[in-house]
Amino acid sequence: MILFLDFDGVLHPEGEDHILNGGVDFCFLPRLEALLREFPHVKIVISSSWREHLRYKTLMKPFSSDIRARILGMTPYPGCGLPPPYRPREGEILAWLQLHDAVDKPWVALDDAHWQFDHCRDHLVMCNSFVGFDDKASAELRARFEGASP
Ligand SMILES: [Mg+2]
Repeated sequence: MILFLDFDGVLHPEGEDHILNGGVDFCFLPRLEALLREFPHVKIVISSSWREHLRYKTLMKPFSSDIRARILGMTPYPGCGLPPPYRPREGEILAWLQLHDAVDKPWVALDDAHWQFDHCRDHLVMCNSFVGFDDKASAELRARFEGASP
């Protein structure tokens, strides 16, 4: 099972000037990491747009070392995913799966941007952008993990 992980609106609420005004980045990461520790077969690929601006090493920093060891990489940069009719983010995810010979692997995307998904919407666990990874999203993600065989 592969988890494609977005940051903004997932690991912290997204709001106008959230970061500049003292919002706490990655406030929900401990909750996600706790869930991931229950499902050691789940690997992680970063799909957040943060990958466009930060070095890979910097992207890894917020994660605990045991979870960091389960991160396989990040999706291709915009423009390098599968073209339309796929939406940008799902196209990047599908491109990653192709590149890594993993098109048959079960996967789930944890994201707040539903408009980034169309053909693959059934793989999406949605967060509310202004709330982030709450109990509801956590329960849904858990159900997806439980449904996937190791
Ligand atoms: Mg987002």
